[in-house]
Amino acid sequence: MTDKEREERALVADWQALVRIFMRPENEAAKATLLKYMNQILFELYDFLQKNVGITEEKDLKAMSRGYEDTGIGKLPEVKLTDVINELIHEIAPHAVNVSSPYFIGHMTSAIPFFMVHLKTIVTALNQNVVKLETSKVCSLIEKQVVAKIHRLVYKKDEAFYKDHVQNTVTSLGVFTEGGTTANLTAMWVARNTLFAPKEGFSGVEKEGLAEAYRAYDTDRSVILVSKRAHYSFRKTAGVLGLGNRHVIRLEVDENNRMSIPGLLDTIEQIRQEGRTKIIAVVGIAGTTETGNVDPLHEIAEICRREKIHFHVDAAWGGPTLVSDKYGHLLSGIELADSVTIDAHKQFYTPMSCGMVFFKDPKHLDAIQYHANYVNRRGSVDLGIKSLAGSREANSLVLYCALKIMGSEGYSLLINHGIDTARSFADELRKRDNFQLITPPELNILTYRICPKPVKELIERSTPAEKKRLNERLNELNKALQRRQREAGHSFVSRTVLNNPYLPGEPVVVLRCVIMNPMTDMEILNDILDEQEEIYNDMFNSFVCLE
Ligand SMILES: *Cc1c(COP(=O)(O)O)cnc(C)c1O
Repeated sequence: MTDKEREERALVADWQALVRIFMRPENEAAKATLLKYMNQILFELYDFLQKNVGITEEKDLKAMSRGYEDTGIGKLPEVKLTDVINELIHEIAPHAVNVSSPYFIGHMTSAIPFFMVHLKTIVTALNQNVVKLETSKVCSLIEKQVVAKIHRLVYKKDEAFYKDHVQNTVTSLGVFTEGGTTANLTAMWVARNTLFAPKEGFSGVEKEGLAEAYRAYDTDRSVILVSKRAHYSFRKTAGVLGLGNRHVIRLEVDENNRMSIPGLLDTIEQIRQEGRTKIIAVVGIAGTTETGNVDPLHEIAEICRREKIHFHVDAAWGGPTLVSDKYGHLLSGIELADSVTIDAHKQFYTPMSCGMVFFKDPKHLDAIQYHANYVNRRGSVDLGIKSLAGSREANSLVLYCALKIMGSEGYSLLINHGIDTARSFADELRKRDNFQLITPPELNILTYRICPKPVKELIERSTPAEKKRLNERLNELNKALQRRQREAGHSFVSRTVLNNPYLPGEPVVVLRCVIMNPMTDMEILNDILDEQEEIYNDMFNSFVCLE
C-alpha cells in the first residue's frame, strides 16, 4: 500500500486495527513514526513553552468554549494519532497557560526540569498499580524507600529507626497521595480515628460512625484548629469526615500572618470550659499558601504535647525547604509534628500531581487500614491497605529518580534561589516610591501593592475615615491593575486579600508573587514592576479625579 492509498483509506474501528494499537511498533517504519511523534511532543511543545510568556494568546474564553460543546462520542474513529498530536501541539497548547515562563510568578505551579517529562512517560509506560504488590512489585518497595527518605528529612530519626521501618511490611512512615488536599485529609482521618478509637462497648468511629462516637465519648462536636491563613482543604476535610466544616476553627494571626499563640491558648481553654467538645488536631502551617509564612511550630508542638492533641504540620508548600543548609532551619519544630503534608509537585518540581503525608509514629496509619480478600492481605506490602486511594500510579518513581538526579545540593540551589530572589525583590519594592510591600518574604512568597507616591502622601495627611476610603480606592486600583496585566499576557502575578498592616481591621488587596522558577531573576522582576507602573500611569488620572 502506498502512503497515498493509506491516506485515503477510511478510518475504521475493526478488530485488527484495535489489536495493532496494543502492540509494540510492528516494524522499523512504524517505530520511526512513533519516534517522530515523541520528538514533536518533547521539542515542539518545549519550544512553544520557551517562546510564549504569561497567559498565552488572548482569546475570549466564551468564544473558545464554543469549540468544545459537542457532547457526542463519534461512532467511527475521527482522526489518526498524528492528527491528534498536531492538534495538541498547534491548537490546544497555545491556549493553555504557559506556567513555565519565568514571567509567570503568580502561582505555585511553575516550570519543571525537562527530565521530569521523560520520567513521567516511563511511569506511564510501565503502568504499575501500587494498590497491591501483585501489580507493582519493586515499585511498592521504592515507594516505601522514598517515603522513608523524606520522613528522614523531616524527622531526622537515627539510622536504626530507618533500618527497622524502611521495608517493614507491618509499619508505614507515610504514603503518597494525589496532592496536598488528600494528604491533609488522610492526616485528619487518622487523627479522628485515633481520637475516637475503639474502647469497651464501642468499636471505633470508622466502624460505628460519628453519631455513635460522640455518644460513646460524651461529645457534641469535634473541631480542627487552624489559623486564618490555612488552606481551604481543611474545610473540605471536615466536610468529608462528617465533622462539619463550621467546626474548623480559624484562629487569629499575628502581624506576620502566623498563628497567634495567645489565641490558641484562649481557644483551647474556652473549649475546655464549654465541655463536650473534642479537638481532633491543631494544624501548623509551614509556608502559608497566600504569604509563605511559617507558624510558630515549637510553641504549637509544646501546647499539643501538654494537651495531648494531634499536631499536624501542613508543609505542602514549604516542606522541601528542609533540603537547604541555608534555610532549612526556617522549618525548625516540624520534627515535633505527629503528621506532616508535603507536595512533591510544588517544590520538588515533579509533574502534577504528587502529594505525600508522613507520620512520626510508624503505627499511626493503622488507624485507617482496610483489608480485602482479593488484595491487601494482612502483612503484605500492599500499599492500598493504608491509603485513601485505591488504584494509583507509581508516582514515587519520579521522585525516586529526581532525588538521584538533583541530589539535596541541587534542590538546595533551587530553594535558595527562590528565597534569595524574593528577598532582593522585597528590597527593590522598598526602594520604589509607587509600591508598598505588604508581607515581606519569610520563604519565597511575598505580597505588595501599588500605592502611588502622591497617594501615600495623601494618606499621611488623612483622617481615619479618609484613610479607609483611600484604602478602598487602592483596593480597586490593584484589582484592576492585576487584571490588566494578566490580560496583556506578558506576565502574571496573582492577587489575594489580607489584613492591611497599615490600617488594622481593613482588608487590603495585594499582588502575590511566588518565586520558584530558577529563570526568574531580578531583571525579569524589574520588568514586571515597570509594566505595572506603566499600567497604573494609564489609570492614575482617573484615580485622582475620583478623589
Ligand atoms: C497547595 C497547598 C495545599 C493543597 O495542595 P493540593 O496539592 O493543591 O491539593 C494545602 N496546603 C498548603 C499550605 C498548600 O500550599
